[in-house]
Amino acid sequence: MSLTTVVRELRRKQKVKFNPPGRPTAVWTGKDVLDGKEIPALTIIFQTSGCRWNNCTMCGYVYDSAQTAPSHDDLMKQFEYAMSRCRDDEIIVKIFTSGSFLDDSEIPLQTRSEMLTRLDADGRVKKVIAETRPEYVTPDKLSECTTVFGKPFEVAMGLETSSDMIRKDCINKGFTFSDFVRASDTGKDKGVSTKAYLMMKPPFLSEGTAISDMVSSISDAAPYAGTISMNLCNVQRGTLVDEMFERRDYRPPWLWSAIEVLEKGKASNPDTVILSDPVGAGSKRGPHNCGKCDNDVAEAIRIFSVTQDTSVFSNLYCECKELWEKIVELEGLTYGAHLVK
Ligand code: SF4
Ligand SMILES: [Zn+2]
Repeated sequence: MSLTTVVRELRRKQKVKFNPPGRPTAVWTGKDVLDGKEIPALTIIFQTSGCRWNNCTMCGYVYDSAQTAPSHDDLMKQFEYAMSRCRDDEIIVKIFTSGSFLDDSEIPLQTRSEMLTRLDADGRVKKVIAETRPEYVTPDKLSECTTVFGKPFEVAMGLETSSDMIRKDCINKGFTFSDFVRASDTGKDKGVSTKAYLMMKPPFLSEGTAISDMVSSISDAAPYAGTISMNLCNVQRGTLVDEMFERRDYRPPWLWSAIEVLEKGKASNPDTVILSDPVGAGSKRGPHNCGKCDNDVAEAIRIFSVTQDTSVFSNLYCECKELWEKIVELEGLTYGAHLVK
């Protein structure tokens, strides 16, 4: 049975929540980095018809999608609602759709152009980052965007790993590293920068393999992405990862593992901005250590993401670190079974 069949079967059993079509799935303000300085960031998750691929093993975003495709007016209402939440004088706007902003079936050209035109005219907006799969990053699509939006524009792609084998057999992502490279090169030609999202510890990997996969992925992606953001896999409802977690076949990554990756990744690629927001840190379904040190370690990861200074990690210690070291050493010998919850 293929991973696509398994994921589709799980999707079929889930209920999709109803959200009013004129409201985005989520909007919040946080922090990001622009030209080496911290800046407020407005993150908008638009409620669209959802990702056309919709086959990834760890992704539960489909359950946030609209049951029927929102109209242009609905999407513009979502946009206005989100922008009205912004209270800052200078912001980066980060656009997600739980899919691809550049896919016309999610955001039609007219809607995308109107949003970008308004963002261009809004003096508070310093940069826009929009998430998309690489197949929608074409010269025409980027020209449509840059014609109406003259400020820094970045496409963010969920590369997840530079290993085609892990991306295919653990994530079922449906594109290759060379697809990502082509999209990044297309961006370069059009003056559009690239951000790569990586995924630490998708299913079927031991803790040690997950670490080495991320360390090599950062170095492989760095020539094509000025910013690399490493997501630490968390267990989203209705996914294959959730199914495996419930059967005790999956444990999210240790926060110590994330630190090892960030230290090594930054040492090898000092000019690349490397970020990680440890969403759900400390919970059983999110990246976690022993429970006692999780808050401190997660906070250090957040500080590193803003400062890019790995010295923030140097004074962290907890007795669980020795256990983690043993797990990294031994888990590769257990044929996929994890040693500690
Ligand atoms: S991870 Fe991205 S590409 Fe994969 S199903 Fe989710 S939204 Fe689609
Ligand atoms: Zn601990």
